[in-house]
Amino acid sequence: MSDIKELKELLSVPHKIVITTHQRPDGDAMGSSLALYHYLKQNNHDTTVILPTEYPAFLGWMPGNASVVIYEKEPKKCALLVEESEIIFCADFNKLDRLDELGKIIEASPSVKVLIDHHLEPNDFATFSFWSTLACSTAELVFDFIIRMGDRKLLNKEIATCIYTGILTDTDRFRIPTTSPIVHRIAAELLELGINHTMIYEEVYETFTENRLRFFGFCIREKMQINKDLKTGIISLETEDLKRFYIQTGDTEGLVNYPLWIKGIRLSVLIIQRPDGVKLSFRSKGDFDVNELANKNFRGGGHRNAAGGKSMLSVAETREQLISILAPLKKQLNP
Ligand code: 5GP
Ligand code: MN
Repeated sequence: MSDIKELKELLSVPHKIVITTHQRPDGDAMGSSLALYHYLKQNNHDTTVILPTEYPAFLGWMPGNASVVIYEKEPKKCALLVEESEIIFCADFNKLDRLDELGKIIEASPSVKVLIDHHLEPNDFATFSFWSTLACSTAELVFDFIIRMGDRKLLNKEIATCIYTGILTDTDRFRIPTTSPIVHRIAAELLELGINHTMIYEEVYETFTENRLRFFGFCIREKMQINKDLKTGIISLETEDLKRFYIQTGDTEGLVNYPLWIKGIRLSVLIIQRPDGVKLSFRSKGDFDVNELANKNFRGGGHRNAAGGKSMLSVAETREQLISILAPLKKQLNP
């Protein structure tokens, strides 16, 4: 954790600020970025949120969404914003390659960089770093950051709504082990700020189209393999499966959790063919470390119980490779 004093001094006069996060942003990425946006705006900073790629439809209601600029749609505008910026906030990612091309532009920028993140093993690119893997979400760290800046009085309904969304989604609805008493206390304070937590839940989890729900049903019925020996469930999706159900960005969010609903299953993997290669999502229960699995074998990472990675093989080959990697780990999966 960096000393807050120096940054507080820097932020005491208005600056041109860019806030950015990882590609295919999730609830925590959007919640953290937009909470920072609503916070910094109050101190008269000229602030813009830049996303590497579009946000999913289930986050389309978030306060401040209309102001975000998306790199894949407006690369020149984004490059100019980075060029003109004095400070860049990097929220919810630990390595600039998680921003693809935009990451390279940010890496080359001389602006002061402020990292706020909870992923394991961050790269050393930030001037100031507010980083803890104990935090349930980056949104929790954004809350902490505002308090440490001495600005509790600036918390408002917009900031609270964004932070709550980050915590809700990254804890998988207050379920995962990092959901500490502190997280519940923060949630209580956010509720006291007047947020509508029922609305947030419904917007995030209960705005499926009929088609998307039927797609989930199809994935569970036709595309899920359960390996009882390895206590593992794998859902594999080819381009044709995605095309058949007109699947858009974010439509597969949450799908990886379903195999873990089966008693005894400790590891779940979603393998998807994307235009730029195969993407893997890992979720585990207990001590099985998917960050290590993704990092060692699939050029990825994340957290102990939730991580992602990539492969340049086909979906079927990736699945075979995964099973051959897991076979010697059978003992760890059967503690
Ligand atoms: P998801 O499976 O939802 O894409 O990601 C799960 C977690 O792993 C998230 O915290 C996400 O930021 C992280 N993650 C996903 N893909 C990658 C990757 O390719 N590299 C790294 N370092 N982290 C990833
Ligand atoms: Mn996060």
